[in-house]
Amino acid sequence: SRQFCVGGNWKMNGDQKSIAEICKVLSGAALDPSTQVVIGCPAIYLMQVRNLLPCSIGVAGQNSYKVSKGAFTGEISPAMLKDVGVEWVILGHSERRAIFNESDELIAEKAEHALAEGLKVIACIGESLQEREAGKTNDVVERQMAAYANKIKDWTNVVVAYEPVWAIGTGKTATPDQAQEVHAHLRKWLAEKISPQVSASLRIQYGGSVTGANAKELAKKPDIDGFLVGGASLKPEFVDIINARQ
Ligand code: 13P
Repeated sequence: SRQFCVGGNWKMNGDQKSIAEICKVLSGAALDPSTQVVIGCPAIYLMQVRNLLPCSIGVAGQNSYKVSKGAFTGEISPAMLKDVGVEWVILGHSERRAIFNESDELIAEKAEHALAEGLKVIACIGESLQEREAGKTNDVVERQMAAYANKIKDWTNVVVAYEPVWAIGTGKTATPDQAQEVHAHLRKWLAEKISPQVSASLRIQYGGSVTGANAKELAKKPDIDGFLVGGASLKPEFVDIINARQ
């Protein structure tokens, strides 16, 4: 069975003081030991967070480039993340896609390189409101998954995060049935296009306005294997989300 996996994506938030406080709360909290926990923090605070959190909690970069070093001003590489003890990277977040114009292909190349360098990858996908209303949700997530699948041959170190863009930061959480429907579709797609084994074992997180209040109902759905949490991951209620299956 698939281990429940909850990621906190702090995005571009926090400072040394507030981050130390969150790390203190997480370090002292009674976290469900069967949940895998990963904190995605701004690059400049990764070393601080890695030092403050126990090793049972994973730490993730929020982006990494597709090569290991060179003349790429402003970028960081998977090798650099590994060098400071970071085990994970979040790639293909909708904010990277929409604000920074990252293409399906570039994101897949980044994922391929990060995996080759030994990082675990949270590979994000999700449709916009316009795409959902046009009935294109399945087409969009299939296209995004196909781009990853062109580059990813071994899915062992991948977690997929399904984050409908209309649910991100809006307070409009997908209903458990809406999320489950897309997750089940993704599993069917994986079985057909990749393999039944990958379909059965790949974790699929839901992201988009997850809170301590709605996590329990979402977590009951059979194809929801965890969450990727933005706003609520900066608050003490993140502990309730981690413990949603208890
Ligand atoms: P919110 O939880 O703030 O809606 O953000 C979700 C998200 O984008 C996590 O990556």
